[in-house]
Amino acid sequence: MDTMSVYHALLEHHKTKGWWPIDHDFFPREFEIIAGAILTQNTNWINVEKALKGLEDAGLTSPEALSNANIKEIEKSVRPSGFFRQKAQRLKIFSVFIMDFGSFENFSESVTREELLSQKGIGPETADSILLYALGRRSFVIDAYTKRIFTRLGFQCFRTYDEWREFFESNVTEDAGLYREYHALIVEHAKAHCRVKPICEKCPLGSVCARKF
Ligand code: SF4
Repeated sequence: MDTMSVYHALLEHHKTKGWWPIDHDFFPREFEIIAGAILTQNTNWINVEKALKGLEDAGLTSPEALSNANIKEIEKSVRPSGFFRQKAQRLKIFSVFIMDFGSFENFSESVTREELLSQKGIGPETADSILLYALGRRSFVIDAYTKRIFTRLGFQCFRTYDEWREFFESNVTEDAGLYREYHALIVEHAKAHCRVKPICEKCPLGSVCARKF
């Protein structure tokens, strides 16, 4: 089975996910994705939702507002996400970084992956999530779920994040829209079937999976 066959099997089973969820009133809308990508580190999405709502209630919904906000006010808003002091600081620093481009549009068009990675608290998974979901760039997101599923399926197990990313980007040659869907399906599949203790019964990949439970 190749990577696109896995994609089609997951899509048929889980249906389209339409990621990334945008449920709040941020401006621009893509900035909610960036805030969510920073807030989701080391916590679950329920807590991220509460923090996004906190930012919305405080009117801290744009790079401009966050870059000018008092750090204590940001901390209060994002407290439910855990590590709230660290995350408040990262949100503010990242907002200043966006504003340094002059506008969100300029940032969106010209920021590079390397520039994102040079920001405090932005690792490769967060950078690729921002590139793919907020900026519409063709950048494959690798997470623990991706590694777990594809290792169990019998694909080569790579050592580094960049090796995993290069593997997907050279084997999945479609556009950013499909990349978005593919990552969402991987997350869905890891939660529904390929958990730490997998539920292999009725798994759409069961007939080709190398791991036997
Ligand atoms: S068969 Fe089991 S281990 Fe293999 S992908 Fe499905 S859930 Fe994961």
